[in-house]
Amino acid sequence: MDQSNQLSWEEQNQNQTNQTNEPAPAHVRPTWDQYFLNIARAAATRGTCDRGRTGCCVSRDRHILVTGYVGSPKGCLHCDEVGHEMHTVNNPDGSTSQHCIRTSHAEQNAMTQAAKLGVALDGATIYCLMFPCYTCAKMLINCGIKRVVVEKDYHAAGRSKEILKLAGVEYVLLNDEMEHYANQ
Ligand SMILES: [Zn+2]
Ligand SMILES: [Zn+2]
Repeated sequence: MDQSNQLSWEEQNQNQTNQTNEPAPAHVRPTWDQYFLNIARAAATRGTCDRGRTGCCVSRDRHILVTGYVGSPKGCLHCDEVGHEMHTVNNPDGSTSQHCIRTSHAEQNAMTQAAKLGVALDGATIYCLMFPCYTCAKMLINCGIKRVVVEKDYHAAGRSKEILKLAGVEYVLLNDEMEHYANQ
């Protein structure tokens, strides 16, 4: 039996009074940028390659258009099941580095989802957990994306930043701001 049923009317009333007199914990609503980045974080959890489980969200006029995460093409094998598809890249400085190429990037999967569903991304904002790579940046420009909001910088994002600037696409690095505040 529920013990609360055994309380007298006065006791129950007192409990209720105490509850209503306590100030409600202040709820801080996320900004729109934080909100869509949270959606991007949720999308990232579906990623299929642990070398970069990232995600993104594309919105316009405060509505979600599409989301994307790092993943193999639909119906194809996943890194988490069969291992990575490693590829050696020769870097301009003469060094080589290893990359997994089994998956498409989160931004690419968002753009192809938009193409499949017939959703125009013209004039939209993309929210990314990491700065888009050069290829994705070029594709985002041609989709008509007008603003790129990024949570974390990417060490090799120099070319992406240059081409976004050239194309008149605004980009916002939230992480820089947070670090800046922390150092004040
Ligand atoms: Zn992989
Ligand atoms: Zn990319």
